[in-house]
Amino acid sequence: MKTAQELNSLALETRRMLGEDGYSPIDIFAVVNGWKEKKITIVKYPLSERISGMCTKVDEDIVICINSTTSYGRQRFTLAHELYHILYEKVEGRIICDMKIADNKSDSEKEADMFAGYLLMPYDALFQYSKKVDKWTLNKIIDLEQFFLISHMAIMFRLEKDGYMAPDSLADYKNVTISREAAKLGYGKELYFPDQIEKQYFTTGEYVRKVEKIYDKGLISEGKKEELLLDGFRADIVYNFDEEEGNLND
Ligand SMILES: [Zn+2]
Repeated sequence: MKTAQELNSLALETRRMLGEDGYSPIDIFAVVNGWKEKKITIVKYPLSERISGMCTKVDEDIVICINSTTSYGRQRFTLAHELYHILYEKVEGRIICDMKIADNKSDSEKEADMFAGYLLMPYDALFQYSKKVDKWTLNKIIDLEQFFLISHMAIMFRLEKDGYMAPDSLADYKNVTISREAAKLGYGKELYFPDQIEKQYFTTGEYVRKVEKIYDKGLISEGKKEELLLDGFRADIVYNFDEEEGNLND
């Protein structure tokens, strides 16, 4: 199995490829959707509760599926996890990934989890951040997870792995409702909740670009374009539902 140091340096390498520095929070969905050198399509779909995500790679075409019934924080982690399989492993057929973040998984799954943690929050980013923290209280942990937009479970796992908290310290926070504690500190609750039902089916990235491109080239009819977009759960593009955009002249 790869060491934590190796996985951290792969995460930093990935950040460089994405044009990101080694310290800042990263808008992982936006940067992957905009990553034109790789043909990545992201599909949000309500998968079984045991599965966090899956990925496939056929030639250069990559599809990453994210379980949209998981919290936004977890979805960000899953996307980072799937990137590890795609970028640093040989993907044959389909890889299906387990929901649990635990020690009894395969090396590949453990590596992908650690990589995901380091991609969202590199080792040194946490080290620098930790200099401002005397003691890791619940409030300080929430500040950290809100800054890097990482799920509470993943942040606890990481604090323990990197030696900032004693093993089993998770037990201290078992009976708290984390979204409520975050709200009391003035944060929104988005990190802790899944997408609204109507957004649980959604496709972004290469697929949408490709459909638009082959239509622009005259290779498919407008009807076919609409059909393909609807297959990708993009009725919003077909029917022009731009509810929150407002008037561009405003
Ligand atoms: Zn995996």
